[in-house]
Amino acid sequence: MRSHLLNDTTAESYRRSVTEGVERVARKLAATRGPFTGVTPADLAPLVDAVDLDRPLGDPSAALDELESVYLRDAVYFHHPRYLGHLNCPVVIPAVLGEAVLSAVNSSLDTWDQSAGGTLIERKLIDWTTGRIGLGPLADGVFTSGGTQSNLQALLLAREEAGSTDLTKLRIFSSECSHFSVQKSAQLLGLGRDAVVAVPVDRNKRMQSVVLAAELEACRAEGLIPMAIVATAGTTDFGSIDPLPEIAALAAEYGAWMHVDAAYGCGLLASRTRRHLLDGIERADSVTVDYHKSFFQPVSSSAVLVRDGATLRHATYHADYLNPLPQALGFARAGGTPMTLAEQIPNQVDKSLQTTRRFDALKLWMTLRVMGADGIGELFDEVCDLAAEGHALLTADPRYEVVVEPQLSTLVYRYVPEAAASPAEVDRANLHARKALFASGEAVVAGTKVDGRQYLKFTLLNPETTPADIAAVLDLIAGHAEQYLGENLVHAAS
Ligand SMILES: *Cc1c(COP(=O)(O)O)cnc(C)c1O
Repeated sequence: MRSHLLNDTTAESYRRSVTEGVERVARKLAATRGPFTGVTPADLAPLVDAVDLDRPLGDPSAALDELESVYLRDAVYFHHPRYLGHLNCPVVIPAVLGEAVLSAVNSSLDTWDQSAGGTLIERKLIDWTTGRIGLGPLADGVFTSGGTQSNLQALLLAREEAGSTDLTKLRIFSSECSHFSVQKSAQLLGLGRDAVVAVPVDRNKRMQSVVLAAELEACRAEGLIPMAIVATAGTTDFGSIDPLPEIAALAAEYGAWMHVDAAYGCGLLASRTRRHLLDGIERADSVTVDYHKSFFQPVSSSAVLVRDGATLRHATYHADYLNPLPQALGFARAGGTPMTLAEQIPNQVDKSLQTTRRFDALKLWMTLRVMGADGIGELFDEVCDLAAEGHALLTADPRYEVVVEPQLSTLVYRYVPEAAASPAEVDRANLHARKALFASGEAVVAGTKVDGRQYLKFTLLNPETTPADIAAVLDLIAGHAEQYLGENLVHAAS
């Protein structure tokens, strides 16, 4: 069994094994004809069930053969131009290269003594990101597993900074279109069910700052504490960006922590033409970025950034075996004289909710070293341009009704039949079209509700998708919806 351990004596078998895996995935990617095969859980479950985990195949080639049928053949492929579903991006090759390196070396980014240069690389990327945001000289942050964790950590810091002993008095203000992880975080932080105040949005799905101001005033009048305002820079459904400067001014006025959830919109940080859409983000106390959404990075790659690095202490605990207190304070030498810089040990675990932690930063590092930030920004600009073209197609198409003009790269729309149909029938036709499309494997789109009605959604993150792809998918959807309504009419008549 030692032959399976990766070390000096097995380097050749590592090379063979990984190369074979890469070959197969490369062939798969080249031969993929659609984003999905339409496989159902009922089709696939028996194949997975039939695998006896207590009877290993012993051989990587055999395991890869088996993987073909239980996973690779029917996976959902985000690189396909007709994958228009959720916030998943095709990934850039330098990042995948980074992924291969980081899992083989297997550094753990909790402490310097488990990562060495990895810690410095992560810190440099954090500085790079806070620099792009404009958070100032005291800024800091840490890589996380995703936007959900980044939001949780930011709100933890906000809760601690609010300094209240009565958690039921704390309020978080976020738009009704903000991500559900805000509510989840409030719950995890023990804030109680009423903690999150949902501020209404305008017709472009941006938080109404006038209503926010009124809510803050009411909060104060009731003797409650405005703990945080969460501005979303790129809502998950609409890509709408809340009015950051107005929100920053209100946060300052009411002494609330300003968190900007830029999980989706962070790609603008690399854009040469759209960076201004994030103006005001530099006034945030904390920011969430998901490189695995708009920086074309493999899952996971995310970070939480803060204006004042000292606030990260709220996530700091000391363990004798890991990051003992004297070392962290830099007073380990006899007599209590401060350590020299060379003696101070940078331990990222002091800033993180996690302990053992992947070196995800390496993927972004490789990306920036090969392509540069402008390269990433160009890709993101392309999908934003594509969304504008898609919006024009939808507005010109009498079969469809579209919700907002996109600021980023999502389009929310619905099929509306020519013939009279009840709102419930229209809902069902759209839902059916989405499911039928998914089952056909020809394209994948997402769905969402707007004012209680069923809508469909394109999340465009693939620069390879063309307006012709969008037009073709709209024809497919209309076909499925029309067929559904046609059959329904037959039913109703009989
Ligand atoms: C995706 C998303 C999140 C959650 O990020 P994960 O990486 O999926 O945990 C948070 N906020 C917004 C606005 C998002 O779009």
